[in-house]
Amino acid sequence: MKILVVGGGGREHAITRALSCNSSVRIFSVMARKNPGIARLAERVLLEKEINVPEIVRFATENTLDIAIIGPEAPLEVGIVDHLEAAGVPCVGPTRAAARLETDKAFCRRLMERHGIAGCPEYQVCHDPEEARRFIEAYDGDLAIKPIGLTGGKGVRIMGEHLDAAGAVEYVRELGGDVVLEERLLGEEFTLQAFVDGKHLVPMPLVQDHKRAYEGDVGPNTGGMGSYSMPDHMLPFVTRSNYEKALQIMEDMVAAMQDEGTPYRGVLYGQFMNTRDGPKVIEFNARFGDPEAMNVLSLLESDFSAIVRHIIEGDLAPSHVRFANQATVCKYLVPEGYPEAPVIHEPLTLGDYGDALLYYANVEEQDGTLYTRRSRTLAFVGRGETPEEAEAIAEKAASSVTGRIFHRRDIGTREILERRCRHMKEIA
Ligand code: AMP
Repeated sequence: MKILVVGGGGREHAITRALSCNSSVRIFSVMARKNPGIARLAERVLLEKEINVPEIVRFATENTLDIAIIGPEAPLEVGIVDHLEAAGVPCVGPTRAAARLETDKAFCRRLMERHGIAGCPEYQVCHDPEEARRFIEAYDGDLAIKPIGLTGGKGVRIMGEHLDAAGAVEYVRELGGDVVLEERLLGEEFTLQAFVDGKHLVPMPLVQDHKRAYEGDVGPNTGGMGSYSMPDHMLPFVTRSNYEKALQIMEDMVAAMQDEGTPYRGVLYGQFMNTRDGPKVIEFNARFGDPEAMNVLSLLESDFSAIVRHIIEGDLAPSHVRFANQATVCKYLVPEGYPEAPVIHEPLTLGDYGDALLYYANVEEQDGTLYTRRSRTLAFVGRGETPEEAEAIAEKAASSVTGRIFHRRDIGTREILERRCRHMKEIA
C-alpha cells in the first residue's frame, strides 16, 4: 500500500514512523522543507508548500498513491481532502466543510449550541470592534479573546492572564473585530484525540500538553513544549466520569457533523478544560496535536495502516486500535529565544539518546549536521512502566543534545503531576 503523508513536522514524523512499522507500507511525503526523519523513511519526497493543492494532487496521481494522511491544519482549510478525493485518493482528514470545526471557531460554537452538545462555554461571536467592546465592558468576569480563524495556537489572549478589559478591547481592535469572546474557563487542560470514520469514533489515550515556554508554566505561549500520558490512558486529575463526559461530547460532535451532511473523517482532537463543573471544550482540532501525536503514536501496537484503511472504509471498531499500557513523556528542544526571538542556523549535536524515540521537527540537515530553524527542533519520547521511568528516559535524551537550545525539564515529573492534582482539588 502506498500512503502519502502531508506535512513535515514532529507530528508527521510520528505518523510516518508509525506507518513504517509495517514493512509493506510504502511512504510518500509532501513537505515544505526537508525533515530528515521523514525523508529517511519515505520512498519519495516532494518538497512543496503543504497548501499547494494542485501540485500535491499531481504527485499523488502520478505515483498512484492509495491513501493520503493530512498532518497539519493549513491544507485542510484550503480543501486538500476535497481535491485529493475528487482525484481518487481517499484521505484520513476532513473535507474543507468538516474541517471548519477547527478553522472557524464561530461555526464550531454554533454547531455545539444548535445540537445541544454539552461543554460549550458562554460565548459571543463579533464582527465589529464596537460590538465586541460593548460585550467586554458589560460582561461580568474574564473572557478569552479568540480570532475566528486559524492562529497556529498563538492568537488567543486571556483576560486576567495576558490582559485586562481595556487591553482586551485594544486586542479586538488589532484583530479587526472578527472574534469569538468566550467565558474564561478555569481548571486543568487535557487532550482527547480519536480516530473517526465518519460515524464511529475510537479514542486514544489522554495527553496533557504544556503550552508555556518555561518551567513552572511561565513565559510566553508556544506551539507546545512537551506532553505526557499515563499507563492507564487516563490522567490523574481526570475522573472516570469526566472522561466519559468528554468522550460523549466528541461522539455528539461526530453525530452532529453527520446530521449536517458534512460527515467527519480523520483524527478529531478535543482540547478540554476540566473545570469544577466537568469538562468544557476549549477547542476542536481537525487533526492530531503536535506534540500529542508523538505520545499516542509511540504507544500504538496495532498496524496503523490497517486503522487508516478502516477509517476510509467506514468500519472502524475499538478492536482495531490497541495502545501499550505504558506512560509516555515527550520533550521538545527549542532554539534559545523561542518563541519570540529564536536563534537560527545554530548547530545541534545529538548525543546518546538511549531508549528514547527521536522525532525531527523544524531542523535543517546540511552535510550531516543539524541546524536550528525558527521553531521547535527535535522531540524525544520516553516510554516506561511509570511516568517517572518515561520522564527519566526523555530527560536523559533531551539533555544529551548540545547546542543553543533549551527544553522544559519539569514535563512529566512527579512534581508537575502533583501540582496538577492539587490545582484540581483547589478549584473543586
Ligand atoms: P487555542 O488556540 O484555542 O488552543 O487556545 C490556546 C490556549 O488558550 C489554550 O491552550 C488555553 O490554555 C487557552 N484558552 C483558550 N480558550 C480558553 C478559555 N475559554 N478559557 C481559558 N483558557 C482558554
